[in-house]
Amino acid sequence: MKRFLITSALPYANGPLHIGHIAGAYLPADIYTRFRKLKGDNAIHICGTDEHGVAITIKADKEGKTPKEIVDYYHKNIKESFDGLQIIFDNFSRTSLPIHHKLSQEFFLRIYENGFIYRKEIEQLYCENCRRFLPDRYVEGTCPYCGFEKARGDQCENCGRWLEPKDLLNPKCTICGGTPIIKPSFQYYFRLKQLEGALKDWLLTKSYWKENVLNQALSWVRDGLEDRAITRDLPWGVPVPLEEASGKVLYVWFDAPIGYISSTMEWASKTGQPDLWKEFWLNPDTKIIHFIGKDNIIFHTLIWPAMLMAHGDYTLPDNVPANEFLNLQGSKLSTSRNWAIWIPDLLKEYPPDYIRYGLTHVIPETKDSDFSMEEFKTRINSELVNNLGNFVNRTLTFIKNYFGKIEREIQISGEQDLEIVNEIETLPSRIGELLENFEFRKALKEIMAFSQKGNQYFDFKRPWSTRKTDREETARTMYLCASMVKALSIVIEPFLPDSAKRIREMLNLEGESFMWDDAGKWRFAKDVEIKKVEILYKKIEDQSSVCMQPESKLGEKPMNYITYEEFKKMELRIGEIVEVEDIPGADKLYKLEVNLGDRTVILVAGIKGSYSKEELVHRRVPVLVNLEPKTVRGVTSNGMILACDLDGKPILLSPDRDVPPGSIIK
Ligand SMILES: [Zn+2]
Ligand SMILES: [Zn+2]
Repeated sequence: MKRFLITSALPYANGPLHIGHIAGAYLPADIYTRFRKLKGDNAIHICGTDEHGVAITIKADKEGKTPKEIVDYYHKNIKESFDGLQIIFDNFSRTSLPIHHKLSQEFFLRIYENGFIYRKEIEQLYCENCRRFLPDRYVEGTCPYCGFEKARGDQCENCGRWLEPKDLLNPKCTICGGTPIIKPSFQYYFRLKQLEGALKDWLLTKSYWKENVLNQALSWVRDGLEDRAITRDLPWGVPVPLEEASGKVLYVWFDAPIGYISSTMEWASKTGQPDLWKEFWLNPDTKIIHFIGKDNIIFHTLIWPAMLMAHGDYTLPDNVPANEFLNLQGSKLSTSRNWAIWIPDLLKEYPPDYIRYGLTHVIPETKDSDFSMEEFKTRINSELVNNLGNFVNRTLTFIKNYFGKIEREIQISGEQDLEIVNEIETLPSRIGELLENFEFRKALKEIMAFSQKGNQYFDFKRPWSTRKTDREETARTMYLCASMVKALSIVIEPFLPDSAKRIREMLNLEGESFMWDDAGKWRFAKDVEIKKVEILYKKIEDQSSVCMQPESKLGEKPMNYITYEEFKKMELRIGEIVEVEDIPGADKLYKLEVNLGDRTVILVAGIKGSYSKEELVHRRVPVLVNLEPKTVRGVTSNGMILACDLDGKPILLSPDRDVPPGSIIK
């Protein structure tokens, strides 16, 4: 049995998760772990929230909260998103726990004693307005390497380089915007330079890594590594365990990866075998795999391995299958620019398997990829509903309606049947090979191609017509279709766990535990009997209300300013409602004909539950006239009525004097 320790990047507990986080690290890690477990490997998935560093203190400063309030809130919020998406961890810890503080301090002292940490007197950026040193994100300026103007004091988001605050050109305090001065202080430095050769030799053994990851790591080593400060002057974090260092804490990027070990320790003690973590961290046979996004490559391929080398006891990573960036409709996801789709919002609209399906297709495995809501919906409708859902449904419905039960002693003959048997038998190894290579998108495409073959086979064999003339032949066809459905229920499990479970319930197999390779066994162990048939996936009909949302503060809505120029673009007029009609299948929508003075337009408005048709006709209401037309339930809406939202109920507004239709509002 192979042993795998799978980790995904510790998310900062300073905000909710968005689609980029999930596609970049957590979903691939979850798929991979589920696959390994189905293969019968001893695999655990370890993670937790990263609760230190200035990402937390800045958020707390901004919102007038304590860092503890921030991390408590977001630890829970993030965990809920993972639970909602059915991303499972064997342990999901927190770096603020005592077990982590203790281990991080021991780790620091061990490296210190091994001679890889030294004290250095330095000049630091200090803000005289704020009366404080400015580590990491407390300072922004121009990157000296790539010229990016918003580089942070610890890293340039644009070129990915690790920086020190004083490297920045034109540095500015991010609290008050002032220009900092330089003041002497001291910090503890990690002898990265000394480990350069060892790191290079180690990287050269990793020819099986993803090309983009290995090349990036090697190019940094070739550029030459520099010793780096691993402590900060901050009141929040793991205190440096040296008497002379009061007021200093470990740099968040020093303590965070140690969280992989402390979380594994916490897991072991929860299982009742407190030493079990050693199998995963001290036994070199264990394969340690870190799933991360592009921005973490430097830390997981250089700094963290160097820390492990300097420590000496622990096993080094076997692989770091880092992903590139996921963009949203062509632009980089950005919390500060409010350009993101948040997981809690998506989960309100769609079942977890829809989201997992849509995001797996855009995992940025080898290059940046792009997500759009339109493409997401199209995929659900044309692939999940029309291909997989359709194949499962037509197969099981047919068996239930015309056979009830198909006996398991079935003889296979004929070219098509043999081809299907071959497809089933080779399925687990074909998909398994792709998953072993972290090719999640291709694996899912192959699975969908297999389902499509099922649909083609069904069409080709025409069971609806042969059932009257050749019952034996029809039973054979349906047996093989059911066998494909069963195989699908196994290989989709890592991707779509909920669908896998539901299909097995329908196949009356929910009590049995299947391993990965069972997907290739086309014979059923018992007669095929269909218990019930239910629709797996529903078409997404309406325009979704999920859109780009600004990141919200705790219990407070952020102010999202638009410029006067932007406001001037809106054409607002008084319209008179002249006709009101129902829209078939829509409980809350009316189709309205609205007179705008020089013309009438059709609008769709969600006010049906609150206003009768009689109340609406001849009413004058404010209308946003130049809103991009949108088709809702087959009706194209050419604008929007403005109304007040009171606890989710619309309240219409009226001018308080007689105003003719078409009057401008400004
Ligand atoms: Zn840069
Ligand atoms: Zn300042």
